[in-house]
Amino acid sequence: MKTITVAKGDGIGPEIMDATLEVILAAGAKIKVEEIEVGERVYLAGHSSGISKASWDTIRKNKVFLKAPITTPQGGGYKSLNVTTRKFLGLYSNVRPCQSLHPFVRTKHPDMDLVIVRENEEDLYAGIEHQQTDEVMQCLKLISRPGCEKIVRYAFEYTRQYGRKKVSCFTKDNIMKQTDGLFHQVFNEIASEYPDIQNDHWIIDIGAARLADTPEIFDVLVMPNLYGDVLSDIAAQIAGSVGMAGSANIGEECAMFEAIHGSAPPLEGKNEANPSGLLQGAIMMLNHIGQNEIAEKVQNAWLKTIEEGIHTSDIFKEGVSKEKVGTRQFAEAVIANLEQKPVTLKPVNYKHGQVLQLPKYVRGRAAQKELIGVDVFVDWKGENPDELAEKLQKLNTKNTKLTMITNRGIKVWPEGFEETFYTDHWRCRYLMEKGSAIEKQEVIHILSAALESGIDTIKTENLYCFDGKQGFSVGQGQ
Ligand code: NAD
Repeated sequence: MKTITVAKGDGIGPEIMDATLEVILAAGAKIKVEEIEVGERVYLAGHSSGISKASWDTIRKNKVFLKAPITTPQGGGYKSLNVTTRKFLGLYSNVRPCQSLHPFVRTKHPDMDLVIVRENEEDLYAGIEHQQTDEVMQCLKLISRPGCEKIVRYAFEYTRQYGRKKVSCFTKDNIMKQTDGLFHQVFNEIASEYPDIQNDHWIIDIGAARLADTPEIFDVLVMPNLYGDVLSDIAAQIAGSVGMAGSANIGEECAMFEAIHGSAPPLEGKNEANPSGLLQGAIMMLNHIGQNEIAEKVQNAWLKTIEEGIHTSDIFKEGVSKEKVGTRQFAEAVIANLEQKPVTLKPVNYKHGQVLQLPKYVRGRAAQKELIGVDVFVDWKGENPDELAEKLQKLNTKNTKLTMITNRGIKVWPEGFEETFYTDHWRCRYLMEKGSAIEKQEVIHILSAALESGIDTIKTENLYCFDGKQGFSVGQGQ
């Protein structure tokens, strides 16, 4: 028996949660439910994240959380409960299966059946943003080796658990050679540990185009946070199942399962909502806690019910559907089908008795790190990079010389193009001359000299080599 935390949420939340629990308990799920309150009333009672301390304690104790959608009150100052939960509990992996249910649910992609595994904590979503000049804002994209290893390994283990065949990695490492380059490199390293699973890598733009056009060529996809956020919505939409898809957020200790849709306030209390999205979340939860046999039984009964044309009003279609039912009646129909398998749709066959267990991240040997220069970012309203270079060359030290100036990444000195557009944000690269690595003192020396010369430095980035390999990108056009 596993105790799980349940939140019934707002709007249609309580109805679809009751229907979901009824189905999985009827199927024999060995769970004990501990209920907490999250959402609108908790926000309005003064908890800015929509959850109280006592509820956090319950979630952390039980480690498995099934959550119905909530309503975020209008007006400022309310933090997203989902984002807070993900970050606090370290839910690094967001898993979203997107399967078409052709011919029962309309889609242009009848053979689509894929799963997007999205990294959930890093990338541009670390939320580290700054205004640096009048004209330029910055958002830091952070990609870490532990972050990549955890998500990529999760994708391969998930693929193995669900008997899938291939993992595809999406990045833009032709442009972002350091950050996306690391994600791709870790993907290659981990893929080599799974010779039984096929793998490939796609540059995100063509990968996304193929995903929208021929999604049936993909199986499991793994990608950094931002790409995954965008593409998982596109994939759910083109599968025709936004209202019927579930999602899992998995961490090393805790996990949260939910529907991807919201609380649909206009449908509240009408017994009209489709409980399928939350039921899909609950099926992923059962697989996560090793009750795969029950998960399989519920999924096959659900597919059978869809195939019999017993549909809630959101997917009811004359000619295809047979019977329009409410939330409760839909749950009853799934329960009545619990020993059945679909005929037209493909039945699922999960591996039994399996709990996904990932090894803890082990930090490798620290590399030999050498400081070989510094990028000094300058707020300067001038128009002629040669003029800026002349000022900045005066800051050269015995070992370190100005080698390049870029504006928004494009090299403008030496030998820039007249046509290039300049903002007030300049990156000025000082590199050591041939010889040994420089000391941090030289960076401080350059900054002090800049201050004395009235140059407005806004930040620096140290330029390192790790085990002799350059740890920074070259300027575009360099
Ligand atoms: P929504 O997903 O609630 O509704 C969009 C449309 O889909 C509506 O027409 C709705 O009636 C329909 N719909 C959604 N779920 C359905 C279901 N199960 N059965 C039948 N029809 C369904 O999105 P929204 O209207 O933009 O947001 C409503 C509230 O939900 C907002 O307060 C929003 O912040 C919140 N929200 C919460 C979550 C979450 O808790 N995970 C996610 C998204 C939105």
